[in-house]
Amino acid sequence: MKINKIGAKSVLDSRKQKTIQVIVGTDKGDFKTSAPAGKSTGQYEVKSYAENLAGDIEFIKKIDVKEINIENFEDLNKIEKLVGKNIGGNSLFALEASLLKALAKENGKELYEFIIQTSSESSDSEDSKFAAKIKKTLKMPRPIGNTIGGGLHSKGKGGKKPDFQEFLFIANGKTFKESFEINNKAYSLAGKLLGFFKKRNDEGAFETDKTNEEVLEIMEKVKRDIHDKCNQEVDIGLDVASSSFYSDSRYLYKNISKELGRNDQIAYMSKIIKRYNMFYMEDPFEENDFRSFAELIYETKGRNCLVVGDDLTTTNPERFEKAIRMRSINAIIVKPNQIGSLLKVKQVIEIAKKNNIKTIISHRSGETMDNTIADLAVGFGCDFIKTGIYGKVREVKLKRLIAIEKKLRR
Ligand code: PEP
Ligand code: MG
Repeated sequence: MKINKIGAKSVLDSRKQKTIQVIVGTDKGDFKTSAPAGKSTGQYEVKSYAENLAGDIEFIKKIDVKEINIENFEDLNKIEKLVGKNIGGNSLFALEASLLKALAKENGKELYEFIIQTSSESSDSEDSKFAAKIKKTLKMPRPIGNTIGGGLHSKGKGGKKPDFQEFLFIANGKTFKESFEINNKAYSLAGKLLGFFKKRNDEGAFETDKTNEEVLEIMEKVKRDIHDKCNQEVDIGLDVASSSFYSDSRYLYKNISKELGRNDQIAYMSKIIKRYNMFYMEDPFEENDFRSFAELIYETKGRNCLVVGDDLTTTNPERFEKAIRMRSINAIIVKPNQIGSLLKVKQVIEIAKKNNIKTIISHRSGETMDNTIADLAVGFGCDFIKTGIYGKVREVKLKRLIAIEKKLRR
């Protein structure tokens, strides 16, 4: 593919903080990607920028386009060799995604189609066969939507807030669009039950001063109402994000004024899974404690609860392999900018599929209008997408998935 220019600049994310946008120009147009930013970041994530944002921008601007020879997904390794350690995870993700968008266009494909075509084992390049194959084999992810917030992402009310970071609804509609609508319905019902305090946090989830359990009761009631009154299904999940309130070997619960050690935390998480019939539990233990994750899976086996690694695994193939060896998780969060390399993102998803581990592609708490993760979700065949419910930067990804589904159904 002939590239005319590669540019980079800083843009503002949803928290009004600077992030990188990379632009790749070809004869077919300009292709842009901007990177998101985490707040409850994992200790083992790659750095967002080598030294700082300005340094990464300068480096990318100086890349000689004649040195770039890229025709397919695997050619991203040439880019990674070229940039080496001169840029961080945010910049590498934005650069690689923009190159893939340009390549997709060059090949007359949507980004998700191009990923399937050039990264699947049997790439059938004949167009009509390829289109038929996509229609037959593609699956849409289930949306996971943050509804009520606590922890690091939230300010709460009058100094009080739940300790858990995200209370999640996971709709189970017959189509992606129906799931999108169910999550929206669940979100507004939860808002009504919370009362009149209508502040929203970074991710568009409702703020509250209620305790973890009070919020879980509300989530449960909404789930029941959606089942009984609408004949639709929604599951409940939690991102405990427990590293953010772990210190000196203890989990410091402020909202309920309790400090729990490792064993008590396992018992507490297990009790919540059983009591609330949880479908999804992310980062219930701090990011180094592979063993407690494994014990929770053992304690709750037969319950079908997804025990999910985010800060634990940080989209890093080596940490993921360790989690598999130790049987710590049965689902993994995939955040492209945690690792930067889309080759590694692909590797993580392939390892997951081989080991029967569910994949959840995810946004960050600070987001932009970029919708790349929607295409990655379909292109890589992820089981879930976690990208919030409320707010423009979240909706843009969900709407992209609705559009993809519509196209696939035609
Ligand atoms: C998360 O912990 O899953 C999350 C989205 O938070 P952040 O982007 O702040 O890391
Ligand atoms: Mg998380």
